[in-house]
Amino acid sequence: MFLKRIEMQGFKSFADKVVIQFDHDVTGIVGPNGCGKSNITDAIRWVLGEQSVKSLRGNAMTDVIFAGSADRRMVNMAEVTLVFDNSRRDLNSELDEIEVTRRLYRNNGEAQYLINRNPVRLKDVVDLILDSGLGKDSLSMISQGNISSFAEAKPIERRAIFEDAAGVSKYKKRKLESLSK
Ligand code: ATP
Ligand code: MG
Repeated sequence: MFLKRIEMQGFKSFADKVVIQFDHDVTGIVGPNGCGKSNITDAIRWVLGEQSVKSLRGNAMTDVIFAGSADRRMVNMAEVTLVFDNSRRDLNSELDEIEVTRRLYRNNGEAQYLINRNPVRLKDVVDLILDSGLGKDSLSMISQGNISSFAEAKPIERRAIFEDAAGVSKYKKRKLESLSK
């Protein structure tokens, strides 16, 4: 599976619509401190279903919405879309391209999730993503501090990391869901 494109508007420092195309096997993003590099990875995790405000480096979820700058007014909505190449059918869909969108409104705190522009529940996004091993907690995102926390983890915590990598976690989640019904 391949992340082809990210589209962001009103997310953190990206007030205007920004489209980033990933055309190659490896993409490096460089720039001075504070220019928004980590905001891009925050945007990816946000669409993948991140609900932890702290791990998005904020105090409230609405902190992901562009808050204004010296020459720009704040905006009311943050929207991020991830476009995946699904030609290898890694995601459970017959479509060659899948767009996953998350929106958040500042005025009423309303959250919206869309798959291919159709409104869905957060659970639908999480299920789609979990099947691919790309979940927000999976090892598809290795952030600063992950390596040392792995080295320092207790055996039981380390086991959870291996279960994620081996794809066992999704079955555990489904088992818990079915037991709670
Ligand atoms: P470093 O190299 O230091 O890691 P970076 O390129 O990763 O820097 P980020 O952390 O992505 O930088 O971006 C930080 C910038 O994003 C700060 O200038 C901060 O003011 C801005 N920012 C974060 N949230 C918002 C928001 N809601 N509205 C406007 N700007 C924001
Ligand atoms: Mg950074």
